[in-house]
Amino acid sequence: QRSIAIAKMNRQKGNVIVLPYPAQGHINPLLQFTKLLVSKGLKATFATTPYTIKYIHPSPPHITIEAISDGFDEGGCKHAPTVQAYLDSYKSVGSKSLAELIVKLRDSFSPVNCIIYDSMLPWALDVAKQFGIYGAVFLTTSASVCSMYWQIKLGHLNFPLDKGVFPISLPGLPPLQFSDLPGFIAKPQDHPAYLAAVMQQFETLEHNDWAFCNTFQELESELMKDLEGVWQLIPVGPMVPYAYLNQPTSGDISYGANFWEPASQKYLRWLETKPPRSVVYVSFGSMGTTTAKQAQEIERGLKASKKYFLWVWRESEDRLPEGFLSGLDDEVLVVTWCNQLEVLAHPAVGCFVTHCGWNSVLEALSIGVPMVAVAQGGDQPTNSKFVEEIWGVGSRAEKDSNGVLTGEELDRCIRDVMDGEKSEHINSNVSKWSESAARAASLGGSSEKNISQFIKILMTGME
Ligand code: UDP
Repeated sequence: QRSIAIAKMNRQKGNVIVLPYPAQGHINPLLQFTKLLVSKGLKATFATTPYTIKYIHPSPPHITIEAISDGFDEGGCKHAPTVQAYLDSYKSVGSKSLAELIVKLRDSFSPVNCIIYDSMLPWALDVAKQFGIYGAVFLTTSASVCSMYWQIKLGHLNFPLDKGVFPISLPGLPPLQFSDLPGFIAKPQDHPAYLAAVMQQFETLEHNDWAFCNTFQELESELMKDLEGVWQLIPVGPMVPYAYLNQPTSGDISYGANFWEPASQKYLRWLETKPPRSVVYVSFGSMGTTTAKQAQEIERGLKASKKYFLWVWRESEDRLPEGFLSGLDDEVLVVTWCNQLEVLAHPAVGCFVTHCGWNSVLEALSIGVPMVAVAQGGDQPTNSKFVEEIWGVGSRAEKDSNGVLTGEELDRCIRDVMDGEKSEHINSNVSKWSESAARAASLGGSSEKNISQFIKILMTGME
């Protein structure tokens, strides 16, 4: 009986390869998506670079991990001379490596019938077409940000941008100032290789069988309504481990991949000693850097706010300014990396000072922590606008003319979020969004239905 059941399972049709871009903010949502698909009955292989595989542990149950070479097996993109050289190498070496993997997995009872690939690796769609299998792109930014790139493709936003025409109106979006645009659009000359890669995603968007986006219908409902039938973005998020989406039975308390080792559990013990909602958590993600001047200003803001600070500082300690944090003892704890989800979910945390990377925003919204938005580049300016103006879940910090967040401004924003007049409203909004995120992910919710529909097609071939 049992062997028949196993044989049937092995013959199931849904077998996917998931191909993330090898950066923390991409591995996390794609690994979470893979876990979800597997929990709903698909077979899945998570295919990533040998360098990345070293950082995935423990190995997630029921997911096969396979290597796809980017041409830099030892050190990953850090060893590439330029971003463009890295993307070119990944394309040429990775396409071959991916094709070989599909052939290797053909031997199994249920050959691969779909590649789900990160939008930064658009060549994976060509490989899917070459094998006659489904291709599904996964976009790791908000749908609003995606729509802006799409408007460029349609010719509604033209380079060089004329600052004089701002604010501008685009379908489904609030009026946008120049400073609300993603950095890749506002300053195209700064990151030409990334911009070209991002734009290529939108050139081929309609050639995909599915285009998944890490958002949920309710969060960007205006945009979804306006663009319904015009483009086919499918919201499947938030891709946050389900233990944080009101589904505690679903286990995982982390994504399961860390390019930096989380500091010992010391920070959780430290949080245990603090009153509810008294701690400000500060982190600028996995890519951002903090100058010594900026660190000093954050220190000033910290002192002025009289709150406790848990601060992720990824740079080496010798970059910290002289005398830094002296006189502050129990008030601040600096760590090199942590499990951000556990920190956000801790009752002692009352505010998240964030660069507004899209994963960080979704995590804070899902867990219900209000934000101080300190955008750096990429999609962050747009995300920070939405955090303050559209979702009302935080305060957007203004930088000074040198691009520095001053201590006074940080203090002002923390007060807005934690004890000022606006804080009640902000905290009530974030609780509502947290419930909405959980609903979208739960059985019958908007994202869950989209995922189930996809799985049904993969497994049965029927709509
Ligand atoms: N993160 C973490 N520990 C840290 C800092 C960040 O686990 O100390 C995780 C965070 O939970 C998020 C990811 O790293 O999932 C960062 O992604 P995000 O999109 O927020 O920013 P990026 O690093 O891509 O700029």
